[in-house]
Amino acid sequence: MTVRRGALIGCGFFARNHMHGWAEVEGAEIVAVCDRDTAKAERMRADFGVPHAYGDAEEMLRTEKLDFVDVVTTSPFHKQLVELAARHGVAAICQKPFADTYADAEAMVRACEAAGVPLAVHENFRWQRPFVELGERIAAGRIGKPVYARISFRHAFDYYANQPYLTEVERLSLMDIGLHLYDLARYLVGEVETLACRTQRINPIVRGEDSFTSLLGHVGGATSVVECSAFAKYDPDPFPETTAVVEGTEGTLELLRGYRLIEHHAGSSFETNVDVEVPAWGAKPWQVVQRSVAAFNRHFVDVLNGKAEAQPSGAHNLGTMALALASYDSAASGSVIRMSEWR
Ligand code: NAD
Repeated sequence: MTVRRGALIGCGFFARNHMHGWAEVEGAEIVAVCDRDTAKAERMRADFGVPHAYGDAEEMLRTEKLDFVDVVTTSPFHKQLVELAARHGVAAICQKPFADTYADAEAMVRACEAAGVPLAVHENFRWQRPFVELGERIAAGRIGKPVYARISFRHAFDYYANQPYLTEVERLSLMDIGLHLYDLARYLVGEVETLACRTQRINPIVRGEDSFTSLLGHVGGATSVVECSAFAKYDPDPFPETTAVVEGTEGTLELLRGYRLIEHHAGSSFETNVDVEVPAWGAKPWQVVQRSVAAFNRHFVDVLNGKAEAQPSGAHNLGTMALALASYDSAASGSVIRMSEWR
């Protein structure tokens, strides 16, 4: 089997999940890691037995013979790093938010297309087991044609402890979790025609919005509600679970807290536990997220080997970026945005 040679760029908080995920995947190997903070790069190299650590991505791409890079920095660095990979003819995975602006995201897609290399956005929510299961059941026609969905991520977990930069950003909830939830809405229900969004800043320690509620009108007539709050008090706190309901013409799929998936039909229902085993390297409550990272990585090896289109690709993620960015316009103006007219 060909083993694809990869390098990870950005050795911070979330990158450890990527590294553990790569260690589980056959057909790819991380041969180098890079961080501007060389102490972080060296620690990652030592912890995961990686041959080389770099402080400069350009030097790494000049030196190493790579098939792909896995970019796990925060968004301000994504464009320069993805374009660097494209210049070297190397495929790229880019963490979300793909970019801070639509123009930057378009430029990244163009650069990779021109170089003829795959570009995937590390959109792991759709790779979480509950959503893989929902997607498969919808695709199999078990609930008929989806007509209504609600996708919800509400908690008060202090996720700023691991990601302190989030308290400083002007665009918080939509560009952090909103992108994941909009990707799910497109994946489960289809493309979006109209969008109306309200945002709220509730927690005084953050600069941006930490809550939003959106109403989406989908092509073909379905409606969905996408909602998120990082200051919603529940006991026990449900972080990092996303709950969802998708109603179709023939039945309903209801994903409840505790990873309980209930499929309803007229006069009957059955329940499936869609939780996953905690990986040996992982810990609760992160298990579903951690397994989704490994699943995404496994999928990307198929992309590199020409067996699959990236789910999602950079080009597909432009539509998700558009929804998140249009949501700010809707929230500011109080208007409904027709996506074909946005920008
Ligand atoms: P972090 O700040 O902990 O780590 C980012 C690292 O990138 C830092 O160590 C920084 O020094 C390094 N870096 C920045 N620019 C660089 C450059 N040009 N070259 C080399 N290294 C560079 O951030 P994090 O919390 O790990 O988040 C990283 C990304 O992952 C963010 O975009 C975040 O939104 C995303 N994230 C995704 C999920 C998910 O579930 N998909 C969860 C958490 C974070």
